Amino acid sequence: MADFETPELKEYPVIPHVEVGTMAHSKPFVAKEQFQEPLGFPGELVDNWQQVAYDKMEELTGKYRSLAVFLDSCVKCGACTDKCHYYLGTSDPKNMPVARQDLFRKVYRRKFTFAGKYFPKLVGAVDLTEEVLNDWYSYFHQCSQCRRCSVYCPYGIDTAEISMAAREVMDSIGVGQKYCNEIIAKVYKIGNNLGLPQPALVDTLEGLEEDIEDDTGVTVRLPLDVKGADVLVVTPSADFFAEPHVDGLMGYAKVFHEAGISWTLSSHASEAANFGMFIGSYENMRKVALRIREAALDLGVKRIIFGECGHAWRVAYSFLNTLAGPFDFLDPKYPVPMHIMEFTHDLIQRDALTLDKSANDDMVLTYHDSCNVARASRMGPKPGGQFILPREVIKASCNHFYDMPQDTIHDATYCCGGGGGLLTDDLMELRVKGALPRMEALKHVVENHGVTHMAAICAICKSQFAKVMPYYGFQMDSIVSVHQLVSNAIVLGNKQ
Ligand code: SF4
Ligand code: SF4
Repeated sequence: MADFETPELKEYPVIPHVEVGTMAHSKPFVAKEQFQEPLGFPGELVDNWQQVAYDKMEELTGKYRSLAVFLDSCVKCGACTDKCHYYLGTSDPKNMPVARQDLFRKVYRRKFTFAGKYFPKLVGAVDLTEEVLNDWYSYFHQCSQCRRCSVYCPYGIDTAEISMAAREVMDSIGVGQKYCNEIIAKVYKIGNNLGLPQPALVDTLEGLEEDIEDDTGVTVRLPLDVKGADVLVVTPSADFFAEPHVDGLMGYAKVFHEAGISWTLSSHASEAANFGMFIGSYENMRKVALRIREAALDLGVKRIIFGECGHAWRVAYSFLNTLAGPFDFLDPKYPVPMHIMEFTHDLIQRDALTLDKSANDDMVLTYHDSCNVARASRMGPKPGGQFILPREVIKASCNHFYDMPQDTIHDATYCCGGGGGLLTDDLMELRVKGALPRMEALKHVVENHGVTHMAAICAICKSQFAKVMPYYGFQMDSIVSVHQLVSNAIVLGNKQ
């Protein structure tokens, strides 16, 4: 299946011995000119790249005070060293969060601190040489920006933010990553990550309507570009395309149908994902986010609801108002934005949906907390809502649910291994090895509780697990959408 060895699943997680340089070869394809320039980056490595990189570092540490604080405050306590799934899966010491940060910190010290300028050896400061840049490209593309390390750092140092800054510096000198930048360019040109034009969306949605009707005998609409609808649903384009994502989309449609609330998708904002965050680019993140505002204004909706996508929810929850607000034209009774899980959970609480749990009796379920939802956002009015709401929706839809071990869920959750712009085939080894801690936790509930399926609310997690689970002996279809469970259980036509 591959030219690397899949790590062995152990009964209990084991912290590996370091193996220096084992992942130094792991690098994503570099973006060509046609994927760099639409994003405002140079097409190839610029002549004076070192100076351009230093200038960018100065700009970023000045603009984002948190970045400078993170670079200045690490005391090398080591608490983060064994917290990254990529270190646990690869044994490469440069995948320890503190070592990853140090790749950036050493250059920062050399250029921007007194000690680094005059006594570089004493403080481990280095120039940004070709060799250092090579390490940056490799290891800042072995960080899924999941923030697990920051939970355990006594100072809350967020490696994700350092990794975003490093990628932005690299983009600014003409060394971008093909996967992310090609996708962002596609959003600008066509409207979504998958490059699905409006006619293809129409076809797909009509096909899904037919599937629901064949299956249930009920006509459930999946409307596109309907002016005057109450709700605009912005969802990852994977929801239009692949299993198990489409099953989730059909679930949203059934929930809206039962609630009797008019809704629409948009061909202009046919993508919830915002890869601008992965490359650390505020300008690109803003440009992608503005499409949602434009669609909401054009369609005259009253509310915006996001579908199941982890990092999209992080961008929406944490930054949408700053990037594309104010949303004072929407109905002030509802939060901006709202997650589909909040919407469905609220209906369940008000007994507005009839759910037949036995429809999911062929599955014993567990739930994977997606890192961007778990550690970079929340859901609903109460702290911890991002952990509670999805579990309550799952439990309302099925009879058999078991959580994975406590140190692998909620804010201690492990990344799927494919987040942060790493869901590309050129990083397959990293993705498989990075999934190890989650696969070990899954094995635990499989063996102890007979779990057969894992639910998630992130498009990247679902795609990543469908691909890597077979490497560990699990079926690729044992990953499901949470709204797929709702879709199976919902009894249509039962509520007024
Ligand atoms: S943010 Fe996540 S992937 Fe990056 S170093 Fe920390 S634990 Fe590892
Ligand atoms: S836990 Fe925080 S302070 Fe300690 S080594 Fe890691 S980043 Fe530095």
